[in-house]
Amino acid sequence: MKALAVDIGGTHANCGLVENEDILAHESIDVASSTDIRAVLPRIAEVFYKLMKGQSLSPDSFQGIAVGFPGLVDARIGRVVSTNKKYDDAPEVDFCAWGREALGLSLRIENDARMALLGESYAGAARGFGDVVMMTLGTGIGGVAMIEGKLLRGKHAQAGCLGGHIPVLFNGRPCTCGGIGCAEAEASGWSLPGIVKDFPGSSESSLSKYSQVGFKQLFEEAQYGDKAALAIRNRCLNVWAADAVAMVHAYDPEVIVIGGGVMESANIIIPYVESHVHKYAWTPWGKVRVCPAQLTNNAALVGAIPLLSEKM
Ligand SMILES: [Zn+2]
Repeated sequence: MKALAVDIGGTHANCGLVENEDILAHESIDVASSTDIRAVLPRIAEVFYKLMKGQSLSPDSFQGIAVGFPGLVDARIGRVVSTNKKYDDAPEVDFCAWGREALGLSLRIENDARMALLGESYAGAARGFGDVVMMTLGTGIGGVAMIEGKLLRGKHAQAGCLGGHIPVLFNGRPCTCGGIGCAEAEASGWSLPGIVKDFPGSSESSLSKYSQVGFKQLFEEAQYGDKAALAIRNRCLNVWAADAVAMVHAYDPEVIVIGGGVMESANIIIPYVESHVHKYAWTPWGKVRVCPAQLTNNAALVGAIPLLSEKM
């Protein structure tokens, strides 16, 4: 089975031609300055045609289009339900009509983190497990759940996909979702610069030489022994670990898969979260496995095949 797949992110849209577990070709489009999804869709179609030409394929070689979108999506009706300050025109867009008109193919759209979990479940770290939580630590925090082999979606299409907005601190920092103390507000790429700025002693620390601190710089400076960097890094680890415990209590997984840009430091993050989960999660049946994602940036593309194959 072949599919056209696109993983639309905040800064890049990764377009690919997928055949079963393999990505035949892919290309990323810079969408950092795009606020409307309507302006991005023609560029995606253009890249699909270019990639197909490169492989001597045409749209009729493909079963359909799978779209991963960074917002609340109801895959059953093929609509974006709600966005969070990016592509705010998406709820009015008929993606299925675009798929038919631009490429002559049927289309399914799903939340990007759910699609990544489908990919890891189909051909990555969660293969062989029916009960899985996936956390993606990056600009935001994706947290999604699969129970008994099925993605959790729920009545309003928001079940099990808001793991980054589980509060870990009831009187914490304000979040972009309108909540307070969400995991994402306490330890993610977008919230980190503010956390560093407010942290006591950070202006005298080696973190002060960066105009904008990302996790790469934070983990490096912590490794060099900078006190503030170490304290903030450890605080982030605790936020992620607390979020993981909450996800275990909510969804009863056998395995937690952790992905995202921060996983360059998987050697620190995985053992920390795992030992915290083993110590603090109530799992009388045994121990939840914690492991790194295998498909990295292409997980959502690989999720195209199970998404298009799913009976809804
Ligand atoms: Zn939130």
